[in-house]
Amino acid sequence: QDVLNASGSMEFGAARLAADGPARVEVHDLAFGYLPGAPVLSGVGFDVRPGRTVALVGPTGAGKSTLTQLLVRLVDPDEGRVLIDGVDLRQVARGEVSSVAALVPQQTFLFDDTVRGNLTLGTGADDVPDEKVWAALRLAQAEGFVSALPKNLDTRIGERGATLSGGQRQRLALARALVRDPRLLILDDATSSVDAQVESRILFGLRDGSPDSTVIVVAYRMATIALADEVVYLEQGRVVDHGAHDELLARCEGYRNLVTAYERE
Ligand code: ADP
Repeated sequence: QDVLNASGSMEFGAARLAADGPARVEVHDLAFGYLPGAPVLSGVGFDVRPGRTVALVGPTGAGKSTLTQLLVRLVDPDEGRVLIDGVDLRQVARGEVSSVAALVPQQTFLFDDTVRGNLTLGTGADDVPDEKVWAALRLAQAEGFVSALPKNLDTRIGERGATLSGGQRQRLALARALVRDPRLLILDDATSSVDAQVESRILFGLRDGSPDSTVIVVAYRMATIALADEVVYLEQGRVVDHGAHDELLARCEGYRNLVTAYERE
């Protein structure tokens, strides 16, 4: 669907996003529904400063997954805007968005291609050296099982995919995001089957590594939430509170109840 920008002209993917450094994200007054008259997100707004790790927290159905899709322009909002480094995503071609922002969704799937193809095809990282691919696999703790495949990176997933566990698939999906050095990394419960230590390395260890990313993570683990620089707490498609975990614990009852339940798990 074509949209009109502020000056009234058609937007058709003219703007470019910057190439380097962690992204700044601004979400303004977002509204979105899958069906008319049934809003899933309403008036959602928050800012993420470059290099921060922000946890999206909220009960099931709050709209967290939907929000992650809006953040990478898999879907466009009915109202409001998402800006990366001040550029409205609707002015940017979808391919351009994916060169900057990587989303690892809840449901991961594999292509009928080689391991390497699965990690790089369509990511704009097709010609990265093997060394870098292995570094991403190492960070996602997928190095071990990929090394064990007969032809390593050249092994066709089509033949082997069925024998990979859910956790192994998820780790490949993580590696696929990491190999691109995304300026914005968005994880939608994408680390549920790796252990907490691995999750922390991906979310927070990245900042010790070479390229710096802004990270937005749909989080369900107390340890992860508590380590995040900031928390955005959603209920029923609205931002109820936004701030440091300790602040929200102290002042927001819904948040306190939810994360206390996570802590007991
Ligand atoms: P969360 O990630 O917080 O659990 P979701 O974004 O997955 O929330 O879902 C928010 C709401 O949107 C839910 O009511 C869900 O049923 C609805 N929803 C999610 N995906 C779709 C879809 N593809 N079509 C219609 N409704 C959807």
